Amino acid sequence: MKSGAHRKRLASAMLAGALCLLLACSCASLGELLAGRETSPGRPPVGTLSLSFIDVGQGDSVLVQAGGESYLIDAGNPEEGPNVVDYLRSRGVGELDGIVSTSGDADHSGGLADVLDAFRVERIYVSGHPKPTMTYTNFLRTAREEVRSEGAELTALSAGMRLDWAGMRVDVLNPPPGSTETESNENSVAVLLTYGRARVLLAGDAEKGAEEYMASGPHTGGVTVMKVNHHGSNTSTTPMFLSRFRPEVAVIQCGADNSYGHPTPEVLGRLKDAGAKVFRTDLHGDVIVDIDRKTVEVSVTE
Ligand SMILES: [Zn+2]
Repeated sequence: MKSGAHRKRLASAMLAGALCLLLACSCASLGELLAGRETSPGRPPVGTLSLSFIDVGQGDSVLVQAGGESYLIDAGNPEEGPNVVDYLRSRGVGELDGIVSTSGDADHSGGLADVLDAFRVERIYVSGHPKPTMTYTNFLRTAREEVRSEGAELTALSAGMRLDWAGMRVDVLNPPPGSTETESNENSVAVLLTYGRARVLLAGDAEKGAEEYMASGPHTGGVTVMKVNHHGSNTSTTPMFLSRFRPEVAVIQCGADNSYGHPTPEVLGRLKDAGAKVFRTDLHGDVIVDIDRKTVEVSVTE
């Protein structure tokens, strides 16, 4: 992550009548795209849903800003906590209206304790079926302190719940209520944001089983932006899942030269076959997607 670095506009698109995304740059080379105008980071303009896929190496962290409110979903591994805090400040965040821990795994919940120490947080959302790792236990201890001292609300999420973030509808698609699944990735929190005609699907490390569950639910249909599940692992992003959610823009959060081989060539091939425009934090640094009523714009820091 290059906190405070200038952003380069990588792609812009029109959000047309029927959720049709026309990528204005679809014929340009990466070099031509990177030559686009530079913008300064900061609080997004009024009327914009801004998604920051923060480069936390091999892990997830997504800042959601809309209507003057800010929500953070995951904060990467423990050592990334200070970087995430710096990034939030560079985006004009003074306090957080909510944070979401999608799973107990260190590459998602690891940096959240630092975030809770640095910012007042109103609402804390966790998976209804988290993996009780040491990292998660540490985060939960800090979260309970925030509840005691600052009056934060702590809510366990499961599919079927609906949240309101600054007037934006947020549907919880996973984990299933009463899940008996023991594989922690399958209990990842998945949220679907609906902002005007745009839809954004963020599903942590969901794998095949969770994808089947979401694909059989009531919220299928094209999405404007999808965070690629589980860092581009071959155990996720099945052709069936892609056919149900049809992403226009897909963002992969993974570390450069990571030991897992993420993203796998198979997943990149499936995304290409699905017609998605792919952006990657290992190649592009922070990936920022700004969505207003008519356009979608993607910017990067590297
Ligand atoms: Zn992960």
